[in-house]
Amino acid sequence: MGLFDDNKVTYADKSDKDLNRAYFLFRIIGKPFVTKIFTFLLKVSIKIGLPIKGIIKATIYKQFCGGTSINESQPTIDNLWQSGIGTILNFSAEGKESEEDFTRTKDEIIETIIKASKSEKIPFSVFKPTGITAFGLLEKLSKNQALSSKEQAEKEDFYSRINEICKTAFELKVPLFIDAEESWIQTAIDEIAREMMHKFNKEKAWIFNTLQLYRNDRITYLKEVLTDAENNHYFVGLKLVRGAYHGQEIERANRLNYPCPVHRKKEDTDKDYNLAQKFCVENINRISFCSATHNEESSAYLTELIAQHKLDKNDKRIIFSQLLGMSDHISYNLARKGYYITKYVPYGPVKDVIPYLIRRAAENTSIAGQMNRELSNIIKEKKRRKNI
Ligand SMILES: Cc1cc2nc3c(=O)[nH]c(=O)nc-3n(C[C@H](O)[C@H](O)[C@H](O)COP(=O)(O)OP(=O)(O)OC[C@H]3O[C@@H](n4cnc5c(N)ncnc54)[C@H](O)[C@@H]3O)c2cc1C
Repeated sequence: MGLFDDNKVTYADKSDKDLNRAYFLFRIIGKPFVTKIFTFLLKVSIKIGLPIKGIIKATIYKQFCGGTSINESQPTIDNLWQSGIGTILNFSAEGKESEEDFTRTKDEIIETIIKASKSEKIPFSVFKPTGITAFGLLEKLSKNQALSSKEQAEKEDFYSRINEICKTAFELKVPLFIDAEESWIQTAIDEIAREMMHKFNKEKAWIFNTLQLYRNDRITYLKEVLTDAENNHYFVGLKLVRGAYHGQEIERANRLNYPCPVHRKKEDTDKDYNLAQKFCVENINRISFCSATHNEESSAYLTELIAQHKLDKNDKRIIFSQLLGMSDHISYNLARKGYYITKYVPYGPVKDVIPYLIRRAAENTSIAGQMNRELSNIIKEKKRRKNI
């Protein structure tokens, strides 16, 4: 049996009802045409205030989110922990634009850190920089453009919010991931993330930046970060992802006619992803990292690297992570084998997590009519249960 093939383990904590809901959902969002219509209707319904929250909450939201609040997510946290999987609470309200909203989101992120500090079931925290400052400001900072005095004040507020979040994580001993976003705002995020690592990672990695390996400059950047850490005596924390904005990156580069910052061939992204994992394991005394992927080959490759380098499967410097409701076959089977596994558990008001849900629907749409991986695993498990 392959590394991730034990469906009995994958679906151990899922009832028949859970399985049927997931089956129904992945069937629907597996069709590109249906996903397009669904996305459109979702956006319109929310905009004009149609009462569809109930339906969303019972279906797609239940599959991919923990609850509307930290408390409501507790059953999900407990469930995952029973299978040896840690939770990373991810406050997923998106599209906020006012300074009050940014402060509220910062306070909520701090709540997740406090909650994590009190529970071994929640080993990490995370936040998305655009939740606590304006996209436009990050874009200007990334381009090194002159700021108006209002923007200068906003920049100071942003720095003070990030500093407060990172300082809390450091003081409460909760490692913290900073999510990565579009390349045209990422330079500003990278700069501040590096500053925070420099400040708080003197003894070990508490602050983790995110590296998107679909970008064609990230292997060079990874080497630069290590050199900087060696020269300035701090530890590096990294979350490795392929990157969630591939379509937008290509579209913008074409439209504005600048060199495309991302790979155009999937195999180049895959190659860089595995190179990055290898580089991190080879430098494990300086780099702690999270392999945040649903890709079976990359996850299997990391288990081989761990074995080759004679590291402990449960080495706390090497974390695997998947999203709630996705690739349970990787998470549950690796957890059973003793690896250090976590899952992002998004939570927040239904209306505010819609952009997140739309990304999940798009990601699970089949390519060229192939049945998606989630669906074929669910079908196998339904058959297995029927034949018991
Ligand atoms: C725990 C966790 C945290 C995450 N955090 C972030 C984050 O902070 N920022 C972020 O951007 N994303 C984040 N992601 C999403 C991630 O970047 C991917 O979009 C998603 O996981 C799918 O990639 P994959 O490695 O799982 O697998 P795969 O299904 O093997 O790869 C799909 C990915 O390959 C890349 N790709 C697709 N087509 C091409 C092509 N033609 N040429 C080159 N590359 C291509 C894209 O990045 C695409 O998302 C996170 C994912 C997880 C599991």
